[in-house]
Amino acid sequence: MNHIFHVHTWRCKHASDEVDEQYIKTALSLGANGITFTDHSPFPEDIFNNRMELSQLPEYVESLKKLRSKYKSQIAVQIGLEVEFLPSMLDFYHQLKNDYDLDLLVIGQHFYEHTDGKFSFADEKEFNKLNEFSGCGTAMIQGIKTGLFSVVAHPDRIFRRCKEWTPEMTGMAENIIKTAAENKVIMECNLSSYEKYVTKTRSTYWRNEFWQLVEDFNLSSEVPVEVIYGVDAHSSEEMISRIKYADTLQYLSAMHNINALRKEALSKFPDGLTLDEINAEIDAYRKGL
Ligand SMILES: [Zn+2]
Ligand SMILES: [Zn+2]
Repeated sequence: MNHIFHVHTWRCKHASDEVDEQYIKTALSLGANGITFTDHSPFPEDIFNNRMELSQLPEYVESLKKLRSKYKSQIAVQIGLEVEFLPSMLDFYHQLKNDYDLDLLVIGQHFYEHTDGKFSFADEKEFNKLNEFSGCGTAMIQGIKTGLFSVVAHPDRIFRRCKEWTPEMTGMAENIIKTAAENKVIMECNLSSYEKYVTKTRSTYWRNEFWQLVEDFNLSSEVPVEVIYGVDAHSSEEMISRIKYADTLQYLSAMHNINALRKEALSKFPDGLTLDEINAEIDAYRKGL
């Protein structure tokens, strides 16, 4: 993985206190030639927690610009923000685009805005459990269509409160995938979600169901959706521990595609092909993680 995507900084108040330069040095030690910072975006009047203050934004950009020029012969530094799409903030997103020297905005939909202007994190627990994926999914689709965002971070995380996968979730996932492909917005395979999936039992931050739909879409569509691996690092330690999962996922994706091709071939040439062996190998690989 030669580009480290999705890095936070101390300013978001829930990351390590390392200086920005430490992330760049770590990226270099990992052999990267690019790094994209996407710290949690502030909002006007600092209405939400867990992110930098609006007054810190110029300093964030300045600090990274200095490092970009210091390290320009070794690594490309991109400056971005991860931000929830909230329809009432449309003017603010334009302001972010126009007034600050940012390379990109990334949608990171951690909650959504109701039509009455209230935010879903204040919803009653049971209501949110049932409605979060459709509310967040709808917001993501709206955001993708504005043309203001380049990437959608952890698109499958909107399903984190859903235990069983349902046809409604398939419908929402397909809609997101199709809209992203049409608008040339990249979808992020979030390695933090994947790490949780691998290391913790019953983590629902990562949804294989979603990524299978992406694979299926890309096998059958003329305009595939582009996918990027993101470390979502809140410390340089996390950057190091998570990049290995990109190789795992690339392998599994290749296996999935081979599997699909084998299935097709099997229907034409039923002898000599071992679909079960391929599936067993995928299982064995997963278990070995
Ligand atoms: Zn964070
Ligand atoms: Zn993030």
